[in-house]
Amino acid sequence: MKLSFHGAARGVTGSCHLVECAGQKILVDCGMFQGPREIEEENAADFGFSPRQIDIILLTHAHLDHCGRIPLLVKRGFQGEIVATSATHDLARLVMLDSAYLHEEAGKRAQRHGKSGQALYDTMDALDAVDRFGRTADYGVPIDLAPGIRATFFEAGHILGSASILLELDEDGRRKSVLFSGDIGPQDRLLLNDPAPPEGADIVVMESTYGDRDHRPLDNSLDEFYAAIRGTIRRGGNVIIPTFALERTQEILFALHKGAAQDALPKALPVYLDSPMAISATRIFGRHPDAMRPELAEMIRSGRDPFGLPGLKVTREASESMKLNDVHGGAVIMAGSGMCTGGRVRHHLRHNLPNPDSSVIFIGFAAEGTPARAIVDGATELKLFGKTIPVRASIHTINGFSAHAGRKDLIAWHARTKARERTFLVHGEEKSMKALAEALAPARVDRPRAHQSFDL
Ligand SMILES: [Zn+2]
Repeated sequence: MKLSFHGAARGVTGSCHLVECAGQKILVDCGMFQGPREIEEENAADFGFSPRQIDIILLTHAHLDHCGRIPLLVKRGFQGEIVATSATHDLARLVMLDSAYLHEEAGKRAQRHGKSGQALYDTMDALDAVDRFGRTADYGVPIDLAPGIRATFFEAGHILGSASILLELDEDGRRKSVLFSGDIGPQDRLLLNDPAPPEGADIVVMESTYGDRDHRPLDNSLDEFYAAIRGTIRRGGNVIIPTFALERTQEILFALHKGAAQDALPKALPVYLDSPMAISATRIFGRHPDAMRPELAEMIRSGRDPFGLPGLKVTREASESMKLNDVHGGAVIMAGSGMCTGGRVRHHLRHNLPNPDSSVIFIGFAAEGTPARAIVDGATELKLFGKTIPVRASIHTINGFSAHAGRKDLIAWHARTKARERTFLVHGEEKSMKALAEALAPARVDRPRAHQSFDL
């Protein structure tokens, strides 16, 4: 029995962990490396194992940094089964197809500039990957993957359908259990249920994104959020919200819905959702009421739309998006990507960053080396489309909407697992990983390096 780490090892992105037991090779996640160019270049490198030999992929959730390399794995020979929850299946399909499209476009751009650009994978590879989805996992219901290998998914509270996965292994009578946290959500979210990990795994593999800090409570963040919007609208500027298409967008839409209902925001506030992917993702949310908090499920079942707003306009087409450049004030514009590394939000930043009346509200994680991080860290100018753009808009960072548990919740989550033997920390930057490792003492904690392998 072996466990090896092929991504998110001493880094946040590219989650990919391999379990070998009883002649089977099980991959937990196969995500994209994201960030500055030198990190993204790792995507094209060898996986560190043979894709052809992988029997099953267990997918914790649909974020790109967890499912984004599955089409590449398929392109390189993976022919096994992908097992995930039903909501993860729906969302991962969207995420992988969108990613394939972006890679195709990047490949074409490179070719136009005379570079030997080849897409990492294309839409056909992503469709092949979608075909590999097999059994659907329900929370708490064990699935026998192969003789000696059983998987059970548990609520992780991170995005719709997200799971922690318990693997129970038996090799010639030797038994081990390994719990993969996936990404862990905070307690008391707007849309999702709290994480509910099982107790007593021998080994825990755990994320550590916010191992060194806590988020502000959600109520304070909502007040801050509404105040920032009201202030900007009063000044006559626009509010730009760089969004992650999954979860955060729906959470923000619900927060705006609540704000308008409680008179914290103008009832007919013009809100533009300028992200085709977020529009599709929001529809998928509507199809999975049971994966949300009971009150949300109830709203949807009774025909009310928790993501609807009187002033909401969705802009799917690029031409509609371009028209938003003429909206000089008084509106909320939500667009991707969340870290401003690409996507439509960059156009809105170009038009609004120089305007002192406008504001940019960051509501999610901003990785090192991304434009979002530069702005959050106080950059006075930003390079966009080859031009230097001054940052005069007011910048807000509201961290209570995080889809990731803060330090306190991570420590509490780990305590609930009652890990018996050892814990591996993954999915974190050095600083936060170290801080969490210290907090978990005296538990035995390792921080594996990329491609490091351990006998179980
Ligand atoms: Zn995630």
